[in-house]
Amino acid sequence: LSTDSEVVKRESESMSQKTLRANSQKFEFQAEVSRLMDIIINSLYSNKDIYLRELISNASDALDKIRFLSLTDKTLLGEGEESQLEIRIKVDKENKILSIRDRGIGMTKEDLIKNLGTIAKSGTSSFLEQMQKGGDLNLIGQFGVGFYSVYLVADYVEVISKHNDDKQYIWESKADGAFAVSEDTENEPLGRGTEIRLHLKEEAGEYLEEDKLKELVQKYSEFINFPIYMWASKE
Ligand code: ADP
Ligand code: MG
Repeated sequence: LSTDSEVVKRESESMSQKTLRANSQKFEFQAEVSRLMDIIINSLYSNKDIYLRELISNASDALDKIRFLSLTDKTLLGEGEESQLEIRIKVDKENKILSIRDRGIGMTKEDLIKNLGTIAKSGTSSFLEQMQKGGDLNLIGQFGVGFYSVYLVADYVEVISKHNDDKQYIWESKADGAFAVSEDTENEPLGRGTEIRLHLKEEAGEYLEEDKLKELVQKYSEFINFPIYMWASKE
Protein backbone atom coordinates (compact mmCIF):
# COMPACT_ATOMS: atom_id res chain seq x y z
CA LEU A 1 0.00 0.00 0.00
CA SER A 2 1.29 3.44 -0.80
CA THR A 3 0.32 6.70 0.82
CA ASP A 4 -1.24 9.54 -1.16
CA SER A 5 1.94 11.58 -1.09
CA GLU A 6 3.92 8.66 -2.49
CA VAL A 7 1.43 8.27 -5.31
CA VAL A 8 1.61 11.98 -6.10
CA LYS A 9 5.41 11.86 -6.08
CA ARG A 10 5.50 8.90 -8.40
CA GLU A 11 3.03 10.50 -10.76
CA SER A 12 5.02 13.70 -11.00
CA GLU A 13 8.18 11.70 -11.60
CA SER A 14 6.67 9.76 -14.45
CA MET A 15 5.35 12.97 -15.94
CA SER A 16 8.74 14.65 -15.91
CA GLN A 17 10.18 11.94 -18.14
CA LYS A 18 8.71 9.46 -20.53
CA THR A 19 7.94 5.98 -19.35
CA LEU A 20 9.48 3.08 -21.22
CA ARG A 21 7.51 1.86 -24.22
CA ALA A 22 4.69 -0.47 -23.23
CA ASN A 23 5.14 -2.86 -26.15
CA SER A 24 8.82 -3.50 -25.42
CA GLN A 25 10.72 -6.49 -24.09
CA LYS A 26 12.06 -5.74 -20.58
CA PHE A 27 15.46 -6.78 -19.23
CA GLU A 28 17.33 -6.38 -15.97
CA PHE A 29 20.87 -5.05 -16.04
CA GLN A 30 23.55 -7.42 -14.83
CA ALA A 31 23.90 -6.64 -11.09
CA GLU A 32 27.28 -4.86 -11.23
CA VAL A 33 26.25 -2.83 -14.24
CA SER A 34 23.16 -1.76 -12.35
CA ARG A 35 25.25 -0.67 -9.35
CA LEU A 36 27.61 1.23 -11.61
CA MET A 37 24.71 3.07 -13.25
CA ASP A 38 23.25 3.91 -9.87
CA ILE A 39 26.54 5.52 -8.83
CA ILE A 40 26.80 7.44 -12.08
CA ILE A 41 23.26 8.81 -12.20
CA ASN A 42 23.55 10.04 -8.60
CA SER A 43 27.11 11.29 -8.97
CA LEU A 44 28.06 14.82 -7.97
CA TYR A 45 31.19 14.51 -10.10
CA SER A 46 31.88 17.92 -11.58
CA ASN A 47 33.63 16.97 -14.83
CA LYS A 48 30.48 15.69 -16.54
CA ASP A 49 31.73 16.69 -20.00
CA ILE A 50 33.46 13.33 -20.40
CA TYR A 51 30.28 11.57 -21.55
CA LEU A 52 30.69 13.28 -24.93
CA ARG A 53 34.22 11.96 -25.29
CA GLU A 54 32.91 8.44 -24.61
CA LEU A 55 30.09 8.76 -27.15
CA ILE A 56 32.37 10.18 -29.84
CA SER A 57 34.86 7.41 -29.16
CA ASN A 58 32.16 4.73 -29.49
CA ALA A 59 30.88 6.29 -32.71
CA SER A 60 34.40 6.35 -34.08
CA ASP A 61 34.95 2.67 -33.12
CA ALA A 62 31.70 1.74 -34.90
CA LEU A 63 32.78 3.62 -38.04
CA ASP A 64 36.20 1.96 -37.94
CA LYS A 65 34.51 -1.44 -37.79
CA ILE A 66 32.30 -0.96 -40.85
CA ARG A 67 35.14 0.58 -42.81
CA PHE A 68 37.42 -2.31 -41.95
CA LEU A 69 34.81 -4.94 -42.87
CA SER A 70 34.07 -3.14 -46.13
CA LEU A 71 37.67 -3.64 -47.24
CA THR A 72 36.92 -7.31 -47.84
CA ASP A 73 33.20 -6.99 -48.61
CA LYS A 74 32.43 -3.98 -50.75
CA THR A 75 28.68 -4.67 -50.61
CA LEU A 76 28.58 -3.68 -46.92
CA LEU A 77 28.77 -0.01 -47.85
CA GLY A 78 26.27 1.43 -50.28
CA GLU A 79 27.44 3.39 -53.29
CA GLY A 80 29.32 6.58 -52.41
CA GLU A 81 28.95 5.74 -48.75
CA GLU A 82 32.63 5.94 -47.86
CA SER A 83 32.19 9.71 -47.88
CA GLN A 84 29.28 9.43 -45.45
CA LEU A 85 31.19 7.76 -42.66
CA GLU A 86 30.55 10.57 -40.22
CA ILE A 87 29.25 11.59 -36.82
CA ARG A 88 26.38 14.05 -36.35
CA ILE A 89 25.40 15.85 -33.19
CA LYS A 90 21.95 17.40 -32.93
CA VAL A 91 20.27 19.51 -30.30
CA ASP A 92 16.54 19.73 -29.65
CA LYS A 93 16.22 22.64 -27.23
CA GLU A 94 12.47 22.42 -26.84
CA ASN A 95 12.54 18.81 -25.68
CA LYS A 96 16.01 19.06 -24.08
CA ILE A 97 17.40 16.20 -26.15
CA LEU A 98 20.99 15.85 -27.34
CA SER A 99 21.51 13.22 -30.07
CA ILE A 100 24.70 11.70 -31.39
CA ARG A 101 24.40 9.70 -34.56
CA ASP A 102 26.95 7.66 -36.46
CA ARG A 103 26.84 5.67 -39.68
CA GLY A 104 28.94 2.91 -38.17
CA ILE A 105 28.42 -0.83 -37.88
CA GLY A 106 25.28 -0.51 -35.73
CA MET A 107 23.95 -3.07 -33.27
CA THR A 108 21.60 -5.99 -33.79
CA LYS A 109 18.90 -6.62 -31.19
CA GLU A 110 21.20 -9.19 -29.56
CA ASP A 111 24.12 -6.71 -29.54
CA LEU A 112 21.96 -4.11 -27.80
CA ILE A 113 20.90 -6.58 -25.11
CA LYS A 114 24.40 -7.96 -24.52
CA ASN A 115 26.61 -4.91 -25.01
CA LEU A 116 24.38 -2.43 -23.22
CA GLY A 117 23.30 -4.28 -20.14
CA THR A 118 23.24 -8.02 -19.62
CA ILE A 119 26.92 -8.89 -20.03
CA ALA A 120 29.29 -7.14 -17.65
CA LYS A 121 32.75 -6.38 -19.03
CA SER A 122 35.67 -7.59 -16.97
CA GLY A 123 36.44 -3.97 -16.06
CA THR A 124 33.06 -3.35 -14.43
CA SER A 125 33.91 -4.68 -10.98
CA SER A 126 37.38 -3.12 -10.90
CA PHE A 127 35.87 0.23 -11.87
CA LEU A 128 33.23 -0.13 -9.14
CA GLU A 129 36.01 -0.82 -6.65
CA GLN A 130 37.92 2.26 -7.83
CA MET A 131 34.78 4.40 -7.46
CA GLN A 132 34.18 3.16 -3.92
CA LYS A 133 37.73 4.19 -3.06
CA GLY A 134 37.01 7.66 -4.38
CA GLY A 135 38.70 7.07 -7.74
CA ASP A 136 38.33 9.42 -10.72
CA LEU A 137 35.27 8.87 -12.88
CA ASN A 138 37.25 10.33 -15.78
CA LEU A 139 38.95 6.93 -16.16
CA ILE A 140 35.66 5.18 -16.98
CA GLY A 141 36.60 4.58 -20.63
CA GLN A 142 39.67 2.60 -19.67
CA PHE A 143 37.49 0.07 -17.86
CA GLY A 144 35.34 -0.60 -20.91
CA VAL A 145 32.16 0.90 -19.48
CA GLY A 146 32.32 4.41 -20.93
CA PHE A 147 28.84 4.26 -22.42
CA TYR A 148 27.22 4.44 -18.99
CA SER A 149 28.74 7.89 -18.41
CA VAL A 150 25.73 9.24 -20.35
CA TYR A 151 23.87 9.04 -17.05
CA LEU A 152 26.03 11.83 -15.66
CA VAL A 153 23.93 14.22 -17.76
CA ALA A 154 20.81 12.30 -18.77
CA ASP A 155 18.10 10.58 -16.77
CA TYR A 156 16.57 8.81 -19.74
CA VAL A 157 18.50 7.49 -22.74
CA GLU A 158 17.36 5.93 -25.99
CA VAL A 159 19.70 4.06 -28.32
CA ILE A 160 18.31 3.56 -31.79
CA SER A 161 20.37 1.20 -33.89
CA LYS A 162 20.40 -0.52 -37.27
CA HIS A 163 22.88 -3.24 -38.17
CA ASN A 164 23.00 -4.69 -41.69
CA ASP A 165 21.96 -8.11 -40.30
CA ASP A 166 18.84 -7.04 -38.41
CA LYS A 167 15.91 -4.63 -38.23
CA GLN A 168 16.04 -1.25 -36.48
CA TYR A 169 15.65 -1.43 -32.71
CA ILE A 170 15.28 0.96 -29.77
CA TRP A 171 17.04 0.33 -26.46
CA GLU A 172 15.89 2.58 -23.62
CA SER A 173 16.56 2.98 -19.92
CA LYS A 174 16.14 5.37 -17.03
CA ALA A 175 19.01 3.70 -15.14
CA ASP A 176 16.63 2.21 -12.60
CA GLY A 177 17.85 -1.37 -12.90
CA ALA A 178 15.97 -2.20 -16.07
CA PHE A 179 16.09 -1.53 -19.78
CA ALA A 180 13.74 -2.24 -22.64
CA VAL A 181 14.20 -3.19 -26.27
CA SER A 182 11.61 -2.92 -29.02
CA GLU A 183 11.50 -2.93 -32.78
CA ASP A 184 11.58 0.66 -34.00
CA THR A 185 8.41 1.48 -35.88
CA GLU A 186 8.35 5.21 -35.08
CA ASN A 187 11.62 6.81 -36.18
CA GLU A 188 13.10 7.46 -39.61
CA PRO A 189 15.16 4.53 -40.88
CA LEU A 190 18.83 5.10 -40.03
CA GLY A 191 20.00 3.05 -43.00
CA ARG A 192 22.80 1.74 -40.84
CA GLY A 193 24.37 2.97 -37.61
CA THR A 194 23.36 4.25 -34.22
CA GLU A 195 21.66 7.29 -32.73
CA ILE A 196 21.99 7.92 -28.99
CA ARG A 197 19.34 10.29 -27.60
CA LEU A 198 20.11 11.84 -24.26
CA HIS A 199 17.12 13.29 -22.44
CA LEU A 200 19.12 15.76 -20.40
CA LYS A 201 18.74 16.28 -16.68
CA GLU A 202 17.35 19.66 -15.63
CA GLU A 203 20.81 20.81 -14.50
CA ALA A 204 22.54 19.71 -17.74
CA GLY A 205 21.03 22.39 -19.96
CA GLU A 206 24.46 23.72 -20.96
CA TYR A 207 24.77 20.77 -23.36
CA LEU A 208 22.03 22.29 -25.50
CA GLU A 209 24.23 25.33 -26.16
CA GLU A 210 26.05 25.21 -29.47
CA ASP A 211 29.13 27.03 -28.16
CA LYS A 212 29.59 24.59 -25.32
CA LEU A 213 29.23 21.60 -27.66
CA LYS A 214 31.61 23.07 -30.23
CA GLU A 215 34.22 23.58 -27.56
CA LEU A 216 33.89 19.98 -26.38
CA VAL A 217 33.81 18.49 -29.87
CA GLN A 218 36.98 20.36 -30.70
CA LYS A 219 38.62 19.08 -27.56
CA TYR A 220 37.57 15.45 -28.02
CA SER A 221 37.80 15.11 -31.80
CA GLU A 222 41.55 15.56 -32.00
CA PHE A 223 42.22 11.87 -32.56
CA ILE A 224 39.00 11.05 -34.41
CA ASN A 225 39.42 10.20 -38.09
CA PHE A 226 35.85 10.99 -39.13
CA PRO A 227 34.12 14.33 -39.65
CA ILE A 228 31.82 15.53 -36.88
CA TYR A 229 28.92 17.79 -37.85
CA MET A 230 26.63 19.77 -35.60
CA TRP A 231 23.22 21.16 -36.18
CA ALA A 232 20.38 22.55 -34.10
CA SER A 233 16.66 22.00 -34.54
CA LYS A 234 14.39 25.00 -35.03
CA GLU A 235 13.61 26.73 -31.75
P1 ADP B 1 33.93 0.08 -24.95
O1 ADP B 1 33.77 1.18 -25.97
O2 ADP B 1 35.20 0.22 -24.18
O3 ADP B 1 33.77 -1.30 -25.52
P2 ADP B 1 31.49 1.18 -23.91
O4 ADP B 1 30.83 1.08 -22.57
O5 ADP B 1 31.84 2.56 -24.34
O6 ADP B 1 32.77 0.24 -23.86
O7 ADP B 1 30.55 0.54 -25.01
C1 ADP B 1 30.05 -0.77 -24.83
C2 ADP B 1 29.77 -1.48 -26.11
O8 ADP B 1 28.55 -1.00 -26.70
C3 ADP B 1 30.82 -1.30 -27.21
O9 ADP B 1 31.88 -2.23 -27.05
C4 ADP B 1 30.00 -1.58 -28.47
O10 ADP B 1 29.88 -2.96 -28.69
C5 ADP B 1 28.63 -1.05 -28.10
N1 ADP B 1 28.41 0.32 -28.62
C6 ADP B 1 28.39 1.46 -27.91
N2 ADP B 1 28.18 2.53 -28.70
C7 ADP B 1 28.08 2.05 -29.96
C8 ADP B 1 27.85 2.66 -31.26
N3 ADP B 1 27.72 3.97 -31.41
N4 ADP B 1 27.79 1.82 -32.34
C9 ADP B 1 27.92 0.49 -32.21
N5 ADP B 1 28.14 -0.13 -31.02
C10 ADP B 1 28.22 0.63 -29.91
MG1 MG C 1 33.64 3.17 -25.44
